[in-house]
Amino acid sequence: MKELTHYINGEHVKGTSGRFADVYNPATGEVQAKVPLASKAEMDAAVAAAAAAQPAWGAVNPQRRARVLMKFVDLLQRDMDKLAEALSSEHGKTFPDAKGDIQRGLEVAEYCIAAPQMLKGEYTDGAGPGIDIYSMRQPLGVTAGITPFNFPAMIPMWMFAPAIACGNAFILKPSERDPSVPLMLAELLEEAGLPKGIIQVVNGDKEAVDAILYDDVIQSVGFVGSTPIAEYIYGTGCAQGKRVQCFGGAKNHMIIMPDADMDQAADALVGAGYGAAGERCMAISVAVPVGEETADKLRDKLIPRIEKLKIAPYTAGDDVDYGPVVTAAAKENILRLVQSGVDQGADLVVDGRDFSLQGYEEGFFVGPHLFDNVTKDMDIYKTEIFGPVLSMVRAKSYEEALGLAMDHEYGNGTAIFTRDGDAARDFASRVNIGMVGVNVPIPVPLAYHTFGGWKKSAFGDLNQHGPDAFKFYTRTKTVTSRWPSGIKEGGEFHFKQMD
Ligand code: NAD
Repeated sequence: MKELTHYINGEHVKGTSGRFADVYNPATGEVQAKVPLASKAEMDAAVAAAAAAQPAWGAVNPQRRARVLMKFVDLLQRDMDKLAEALSSEHGKTFPDAKGDIQRGLEVAEYCIAAPQMLKGEYTDGAGPGIDIYSMRQPLGVTAGITPFNFPAMIPMWMFAPAIACGNAFILKPSERDPSVPLMLAELLEEAGLPKGIIQVVNGDKEAVDAILYDDVIQSVGFVGSTPIAEYIYGTGCAQGKRVQCFGGAKNHMIIMPDADMDQAADALVGAGYGAAGERCMAISVAVPVGEETADKLRDKLIPRIEKLKIAPYTAGDDVDYGPVVTAAAKENILRLVQSGVDQGADLVVDGRDFSLQGYEEGFFVGPHLFDNVTKDMDIYKTEIFGPVLSMVRAKSYEEALGLAMDHEYGNGTAIFTRDGDAARDFASRVNIGMVGVNVPIPVPLAYHTFGGWKKSAFGDLNQHGPDAFKFYTRTKTVTSRWPSGIKEGGEFHFKQMD
């Protein structure tokens, strides 16, 4: 059995706590590795190494720091297939999707190459007589991030690329379900020239997370994961005086107006609802057709598309639509929620409950499900299912559809499909959700914009990546300086009498 390690101060270090978690191959259901779960003492060792290394790194000029990321981007491209293979084998997502996971992280590293530009301060010349004011952006020191299983490459990179570019040291506590790629990323950073101790990976669970939250040296904590844990980390971290940003769960609605191109809308829904087995925080899990006729047309277009989906392990080829979910517990939870939908009166028009894949009976595969006539009071509507389950809620009007998206407790992403510019514009302007797609089902902003939800989908005041990341990972210092007149008034050839 493969035993994974931590990555502390430039070395792979065996776990010493005696506690481990199983890492599965979700396609077969087999345990393929054991990952160590760090104790507080192991986290303390990483923090000490980070604190020792950070001042020198913070003093390296930003252009040189950026060059490390330039090289890192090259290495990611060199190792893309190797990384994607490791990612798919632990997560279960398809090979092209694993590459997308890496690519979307790579793009943030690429954006962070602009560190010299982004870290330029502000300057007021002549704020008063002989007085200038200038501000600088300085690193926080030791920073940390806690990441979810569903994007084991992208989300760590969204955190550590800006943290490092800004001159910080960064301690990553990745998901214990797919920890191999984060370890590989740390190695690549050091191959790219990052000094030891600036990136470290400490594997673990709540014990490691609490060690981060209660550590006095760590200045900031980034978190991405489910909302209850986001709330815990935000509350605890802030109470310890840390800078914290937490991104949580989602229930993303897609509104389909009667004038939408129905084929386009159905294709978009199938990709956004079932891609990555629905394990995306920007997945569409609720379709809201406006009007009975729209709903009937959409349903007729969706069913054959869903029934054609190819569900298989990533090794079965690039035409696989989605793979297994991450664990047996995740599968069980999804099927329990599907059953609650049936019990609470929704129409299960595509039933994937009996899905089984020959040769992979022990794998964590879940067939696709489509519910129609879902209502607001049902658990399948209120809860984030995080599986291949799409719910249709029929709305009578545009206002009712907008109200559904607005009243839901989550506010990560949403989309509207229409040919009407006025409806799209009104929707984008009024909806209380962080990321909006117009005829785009998964509106994940690119690296140079920022990513973040509203309501229960995010806690903290800055978004991930883009210009916000450079704010999150730096402190502003503002200097007011006054130089009284001196040597420019003429040369001084004698020692002045000091009285
Ligand atoms: P999770 O909350 O179970 O785990 C996230 C991290 O928190 C992991 O590193 C885990 O080890 C740690 N953790 C788990 N339980 C903990 C506890 N009790 N105390 C302290 N730490 C704990 O989430 P997950 O299942 O890995 O990921 C799926 C969730 O992440 C979904 O809800 C999804 O919507 C969300 N997500 C959100 C975004 C976003 O940007 N908003 C992006 C990706 C995923």
